[in-house]
Amino acid sequence: MTDSSIDLKTDIPHSARIYDYILGGKDNYPADREAAGAIVADWPNLPKSMRANRNFMARLAHHLAAEHGVRQFLDIGTGLPTSPNLHEVAQSVAPESRIVYVDNDPIVLVHARALLTSTPEGRTSYLDADFLDPEAILGSAQLRDTFDLSRPVAVSLIAIVHFMPDDAKVQAILDRLMEPLAPGSLLAVSACTADSAPEEVTAGVAAYNANGISTVARDKERFGRFFRGLELLDPGVVLVNHWHPDAEAAAVDDAHVHMYGALARKP
Ligand code: SAH
Repeated sequence: MTDSSIDLKTDIPHSARIYDYILGGKDNYPADREAAGAIVADWPNLPKSMRANRNFMARLAHHLAAEHGVRQFLDIGTGLPTSPNLHEVAQSVAPESRIVYVDNDPIVLVHARALLTSTPEGRTSYLDADFLDPEAILGSAQLRDTFDLSRPVAVSLIAIVHFMPDDAKVQAILDRLMEPLAPGSLLAVSACTADSAPEEVTAGVAAYNANGISTVARDKERFGRFFRGLELLDPGVVLVNHWHPDAEAAAVDDAHVHMYGALARKP
């Protein structure tokens, strides 16, 4: 497939491109910038919250590789390439790390080349698939060829499940994804919450929905339920700036962080 054959629907705002624009990226269009402007007007700390989330992703990747010895990463809802990408962090710790990136947005597919820069010892691959279709992910050549499924895999869903308001549906997919993975596999999730700034996030989530992007904020208990059947690891469900913070995360104000994050292990 050539890039020109992909319909990017550039006249409709897209979550990946809004996120890219707010983080200062270049892979976005006027409709995305207009929607981002309207959303940020109602949700002024969204850019800070997004940066805190992105930094969480980098700390998470480092922690998984350095503390848990993870060498296989399945990242679903990868987004547009943003430095550093997950594989760059993991391979800086362990060059042999293997990563399968998954996203369903055609613009991410167009830019996927930038995600495929692996160390010679490791491997990265990209799968154009939908989280809502776990069979397509589990049955893909990318996953089968990249991973040794007798060994643990870390599944990461960073800033994606808040675009899926149906908890039961998300839960069923999480269960299905973890099912064939080896004991010791890990699940990391981050998603939007209004707990730390109820009025602001409620208004911002409404602005996302008004721009055609279905979005939901979950409270701590609702978010925590996604890890049922797994062993929640230290420090449990926390605002992402509190998850194994570095100096930068420690300096962030909780009222500016609207994302919970957690990591859990399959027994
Ligand atoms: N994980 C990255 C990007 C988050 S933006 C980060 O935290 O920095 C959310 C991403 O999820 C977007 O790239 C969007 O295209 C993707 N996404 C949304 N719904 C999806 C679905 N059903 N299947 C796969 N990817 C999805």
